[in-house]
Amino acid sequence: MTDATALIDALDRAGYRLTEPRRAMAGLISDQTGHFTAADLVVDARTRRLGIGRATIFRALDLFEDLGVVERLDLPSGDHAYVPCEPIHHHHVICSSCGRTEDVDDPGIDAVTRSVARRTGFRIDSHRLELFGLCPACAGSVDPR
Ligand SMILES: [Zn+2]
Ligand SMILES: [Zn+2]
Ligand SMILES: [Zn+2]
Repeated sequence: MTDATALIDALDRAGYRLTEPRRAMAGLISDQTGHFTAADLVVDARTRRLGIGRATIFRALDLFEDLGVVERLDLPSGDHAYVPCEPIHHHHVICSSCGRTEDVDDPGIDAVTRSVARRTGFRIDSHRLELFGLCPACAGSVDPR
């Protein structure tokens, strides 16, 4: 999991003022386990009486996403969720049951990209890849007996 400092540092480096709501958001995000939705944060902020509303939470999520420290995931259910991330290119393996997320690097995808570029004539600038399944703990618990 990311700690709040990484999120706060990213704001600082990009020249954003470290306002109280932004600090509160950094803490909120770093305390999430696995991936989380904007709605999860809204509920959490309310429970902790942080005094930050929906609009602030959505704006802060956008900002953290732009800074590359939070990444948006498109779940197979059609919902969107977020994970705290390192701002370097990587992929995720995501548990569909508990939401546990791990960063994975990019084995072989560059080669696929080059081959697609060659076949289609496209200049490919970016790609996304997310792998969904069951984490070892969840796979173990559904083991038929
Ligand atoms: Zn990540
Ligand atoms: Zn799991
Ligand atoms: Zn990649």
